[in-house]
Amino acid sequence: MKLAERIARLEIESAFDVLVKARALEAAGRSVVHLEIGEPDFPTPPHIVEAAKQALDQGWTRYGPTQGLPELREAIAAYISRTRNISVSARNVCVVPGAKPILFFSMLALIEPGDEVVYPDPGFPIYRSMIQYLGAKPVPVPLIETRGFSFDLDILRDKLSSRTRLLILNSPQNPTGGVIPELDLREIAALVRDRDLMVLSDEIYSRIYYTAEAPYSIAALPGMLEKTILLDGFSKTYAMTGWRLGYGVMPEWLVEGVNKLMVNSNSCATSFTQRAALAALTGPQTAVDQMVEQFRRRRDVFCQALNTIPGFRCVPPSGAFYAFANVEQTGMPSKDLANLLLERAGVACLNGGSFGEHGEGYIRFSFANSLQNLQAAAERIRAAQKETK
Ligand code: PLP
Repeated sequence: MKLAERIARLEIESAFDVLVKARALEAAGRSVVHLEIGEPDFPTPPHIVEAAKQALDQGWTRYGPTQGLPELREAIAAYISRTRNISVSARNVCVVPGAKPILFFSMLALIEPGDEVVYPDPGFPIYRSMIQYLGAKPVPVPLIETRGFSFDLDILRDKLSSRTRLLILNSPQNPTGGVIPELDLREIAALVRDRDLMVLSDEIYSRIYYTAEAPYSIAALPGMLEKTILLDGFSKTYAMTGWRLGYGVMPEWLVEGVNKLMVNSNSCATSFTQRAALAALTGPQTAVDQMVEQFRRRRDVFCQALNTIPGFRCVPPSGAFYAFANVEQTGMPSKDLANLLLERAGVACLNGGSFGEHGEGYIRFSFANSLQNLQAAAERIRAAQKETK
């Protein structure tokens, strides 16, 4: 037997590969600062953990409704309606194990072989992986550093065709930390409003931003709610990556497709984690605010330090917890530099090229690590840079 051909079209996330390499170095006695993996280093807030424990004691250990617990879907609908200034109901909400299945299921439900999917490059590697898996055509659109890592809207316009079925947006963005300005979203909405396509708006970092205003959602623009799949979840906002709980908000006709895929794969998301998620949404939000404040301090300190290292240039990101440093001036391909930083300096980070061809020349550092470790990492990078001279 051999693997089905479609499996060869799936890609992996290099963050997990680099983590394995870094752990092997540690096992051999080396010290490594982990700036590769994209997860908050904070614990899940205690009241959420407590709610999960209580739910277990109360017997939330059985199958639940495929679409998610009604009380959680109500809370999500209220939260999304409030934060995105739109009006959605529990009927529009699908609760799934992590946000990734929303990508997987909504694309499975919408895309036919030969369709075109437009997506940001550099971007979350799973986008291209899923597009290829479905036999669709990946149409990357470069993100422009001088535009705060947003699209050049003329390029975006050129990339849309009569075969485009899906446009993926991600704001705040992984790996660049870019936030798409409201004005750009208005122009993007004008470009797609009359087209026969859907927009997948990946808003998993919606609460992690350093701008005065919260990031804007394209779903709030006239005519866009019925064309948008809004993806969000608990992983990043509430430091719950390992709990695996996310959701999508979408038109009801698409909910039907996602529900079918859920029945065929997971049956439902875990019941007691959904009860904990309800506590996350309805309980105190101070832990989220404190986490974002810490990220902001780390961002300022780390980006400033990177900007003093010869060959490194880093525009402080507007959101998420990634510093996407331009390293072209080092004269090294970013893949070689990322390897060198891990092997020689003990700083685990990701080659920008692993996020798409337009990520070449950049390195992604996650600043979800302590200020002390980030300062140590910057000094290690500086020392490694000197040695290569
Ligand atoms: N979308 C983006 C842009 C991400 O960076 C991630 C996680 O890294 C996800 C979606 C998936 O989130 P989850 O861990 O909830 O599946």
